[in-house]
Amino acid sequence: VISLAEVSREFAAEPPVRALDRVTLRVERGDYLAIVGPSGSGKSTLLNVLGLLDRPSSGSYRLDGTETTTLRDGARTRLRGDRIGFVFQSFHLLSHRSVVENVMLAEIYGRHARRSRRERALAALERVGLGHRTGFAPDRLSGGERQRTAIARALMGEPSLLLCDEPTGNLDSRNTESVLDLFDELRGQGMTIVVITHEQEVSERAGRRVRITDGVLVEEE
Ligand code: ATP
Ligand code: MG
Repeated sequence: VISLAEVSREFAAEPPVRALDRVTLRVERGDYLAIVGPSGSGKSTLLNVLGLLDRPSSGSYRLDGTETTTLRDGARTRLRGDRIGFVFQSFHLLSHRSVVENVMLAEIYGRHARRSRRERALAALERVGLGHRTGFAPDRLSGGERQRTAIARALMGEPSLLLCDEPTGNLDSRNTESVLDLFDELRGQGMTIVVITHEQEVSERAGRRVRITDGVLVEEE
């Protein structure tokens, strides 16, 4: 469960930029939330705060009951590794490594060290429907398969929250569909999904939409 209360994020500039302006937001476990809004409105800033990659300038962010804003860097990093997976518009796959090797490259932490990386990577690939592509080179995959490989990599730490910044921005509608179907499946398994998107196709599939304009968040119908 995500609970933001009056979160602001200011960047030093001349004049200063208030990228988030007293944002209050609650996201329950298993929610599927789309964040929409114009370029420069604060969407990625919000995702970075939610992902513990950035700290608010003020306000409170509780993740599963833990107040994160006062944690030390090490504790924040551990919490991030335990709870959060990230997916971006560009898949960041290494072209000279196979699909399974790319997934194995995920940054993960101690509590998962018992099963081998390869075993876990294969399980993650099964989960995203790519059990038959593990030995492929990324350039032999469709765009949707590439993004699902990146999602498998994000699942390696067994996150409960998946944060996605324009995950279908590089995909045509057929491949977009395959990624959205996967999101539905993951959500059925209890995953919380937060997606930044400009695409109506994507925001329509989400259970809930919020719009950010100049750092101010408003719930949409
Ligand atoms: P886009 O749709 O183009 O990705 P966005 O909604 O993700 O835009 P943000 O990247 O969150 O927008 O940026 C919000 C505002 O904060 C912008 O005015 C941006 O210039 C500013 N900003 C973001 N990051 C920084 C930073 N590290 N330093 C200074 N200003 C920043
Ligand atoms: Mg952005």
